[in-house]
Amino acid sequence: MARPAEPGPGPRRTCIGCRRVRPPAELTRFVRSDDRSLQIGRTLAGRGAWLCQGSTECFERAARQGGLRPGLPGPGRGVGARRPARRTP
Ligand SMILES: [Zn+2]
Repeated sequence: MARPAEPGPGPRRTCIGCRRVRPPAELTRFVRSDDRSLQIGRTLAGRGAWLCQGSTECFERAARQGGLRPGLPGPGRGVGARRPARRTP
């Protein structure tokens, strides 16, 4: 009965940092909510980005590559950059 967690067929997600494909259980899903705050949750609605769990390296890499949506606060970057990107035609 004791079945080890085997990587059987199932959903796969790609880490936007290192591009590795892994089961969602090994990844953290970041979602930017309406108030621009960063939420973590697999079932949250909205645009999500998957990153290796607990990996700041992947997070930083994703932020540098622009994989995270603009507005997502990255470590050491984007702090204070609160410009309303609004253009009047
Ligand atoms: Zn990763």
